[in-house]
Amino acid sequence: MKRVFLFKHPPIGRQFLAINLFGFILTRRPLSAVELNHERIHTVQQRELLYVFFYLWYVCEWLYGLVRYRNGMKAYRQISFEKEAYRHQHDLDYLSVRRHYCYNQ
Ligand SMILES: [Zn+2]
Repeated sequence: MKRVFLFKHPPIGRQFLAINLFGFILTRRPLSAVELNHERIHTVQQRELLYVFFYLWYVCEWLYGLVRYRNGMKAYRQISFEKEAYRHQHDLDYLSVRRHYCYNQ
């Protein structure tokens, strides 16, 4: 099943390349293997938290970071889901060894 869709203007800020909505990836351009791995990590995180709880947690962490750092981009990078995805995106085998619910390791 196709899960990556190219959009000239996806519903995200200009500083972002792609967004993962319920396992469907909307992107401005074709993704590299590393970028695709990043989004696949998010797909697994979302599934683990039944999607809804992922987004609730994600937004709560971002808002907390926004209050704490007063910087949206820094708040984004401090979200535990993003930390995991950025930390492991270069390891293309990561998802085969990843343990469940380990978002900040
Ligand atoms: Zn991400």
